[in-house]
Amino acid sequence: MNLILGGGIAGISAAYHLQKNGKAYKLCEKNHSWGGLCDNFTISGFLFDYFVHLSFTTNDCVKELFSQSTPFYTHNPLAYNYYKGKWIKHPAQNNLSPLSTDEKIRIIQDFINKPVSNPQNYEEWLLVQFGDYFTNNFPSAYTRKYWTANAKDLGLDWVGERFSLPELSDILRGAFEEQADNFYYAKEMRYPVKGGYKAFLNKMADQIDISVNKEAVLIDTDNKQVEFSDGTKEYYTRLVSSVPLPELVKLIKDCPASILDAGKELTATSGQLVSIGFNRPDIPQYLWAYIYDEDIFPARVYSPSLKSKHNAPEGKSSLQFETYCSKYSPKKCNGDGLTSHIIEKGERMNLFVQKDIDVIDYREVKYANVVFDHKRQKAVSVIHTYLQNLGINYIGRFGEWDYLWSDQSLLSGMDIINYK
Ligand SMILES: Cc1cc2nc3c(=O)[nH]c(=O)nc-3n(C[C@H](O)[C@H](O)[C@H](O)COP(=O)(O)OP(=O)(O)OC[C@H]3O[C@@H](n4cnc5c(N)ncnc54)[C@H](O)[C@@H]3O)c2cc1C
Repeated sequence: MNLILGGGIAGISAAYHLQKNGKAYKLCEKNHSWGGLCDNFTISGFLFDYFVHLSFTTNDCVKELFSQSTPFYTHNPLAYNYYKGKWIKHPAQNNLSPLSTDEKIRIIQDFINKPVSNPQNYEEWLLVQFGDYFTNNFPSAYTRKYWTANAKDLGLDWVGERFSLPELSDILRGAFEEQADNFYYAKEMRYPVKGGYKAFLNKMADQIDISVNKEAVLIDTDNKQVEFSDGTKEYYTRLVSSVPLPELVKLIKDCPASILDAGKELTATSGQLVSIGFNRPDIPQYLWAYIYDEDIFPARVYSPSLKSKHNAPEGKSSLQFETYCSKYSPKKCNGDGLTSHIIEKGERMNLFVQKDIDVIDYREVKYANVVFDHKRQKAVSVIHTYLQNLGINYIGRFGEWDYLWSDQSLLSGMDIINYK
């Protein structure tokens, strides 16, 4: 029997595809509901996903599974940037027109004089793409907030196609006049009409059994048995895990100290989410926005009610602020402190006024993003080799310990049918 740990999109996909291939499985999720990072929560009729979550997959198989799951909206990926009191269309380098002449000159001069060297870390890569001034004020500042690390401390093995890289003519045009074109790297963003992002998983989830409230607490690889927090035990012929690697190695009975140490070398960001429901419909202006100013703690804000009007009761609207921390950058404040901070800064950013707030919620997510620091590759390789030798298959964002979007996590779970 295939025993799958973790009922996020990767574990659900593994179960669904094993079942389709006639293989026995049991899928165990520690939380009271399935979905992992794709799950959501509801407060007084406001539905909030965990973090922004929109689908821009280009994979036909995933598109098919998602579209068979639910009707969906297709959004234009029109994002904004908040920088020193100004709202700038995203990507900022193509839309400099709201900036002062002095800043435009600095950005364009430095773009023309950007270094041509072979970058060895993320900061050097940014400098080669954008030049000094833009790098220091935009992506490097954002990196400290979103990735909780300095750009020079990150490697390059995650950058891929996640950036729009501008031509000088695009920068000049965007500095003179407002641009109608959208230079975002994805051309459309899909989102379920009802049920939050999780509804995209319905086609798979409806056809499988998911055991919730079932947290694996011990893995005995000699006896091929997993113990759960409710005292039950399950035997397996194959173990498939989407549990974050640093947690997984701690569950394995007699795991060598060198492997546990490799687990400690891995860093992920945790998210602090402040979700706000408003008692009027017209609060959100932007589907999502990046916030560069470092005296404002959240890195991003997005609108659940613009993703779907069904995410808020009739006549109301919502925003969710994402703030990140990690061992490199501990929490700046607790829940109450962050909530007050966001109310103050949200008013200053002209996003809302306090009297329009209907409900406000604070919660934390322990594993949000894998941090691509210089220790990651070696530590991941040590742990993956150990798991392969034990015959444990690892899937998903935190099993592969990679920057996987939901479609890639789904495909990672689906891949299990190709393994022996
Ligand atoms: C800030 C942010 C924004 C994102 N935005 C997007 C987006 O716009 N579009 C997109 O496509 N993707 C987005 N993603 C990525 C997407 O969320 C992930 O790729 C995907 O949800 C990961 O799924 P997973 O199943 O691999 O991991 P998870 O969702 O983390 O699932 C792992 C599951 O394992 C369970 N578990 C852990 N320990 C145990 C245990 N001991 N026993 C049993 N169960 C256990 C957990 O509770 C969890 O449910 C975003 C992610 C973040 C953090």
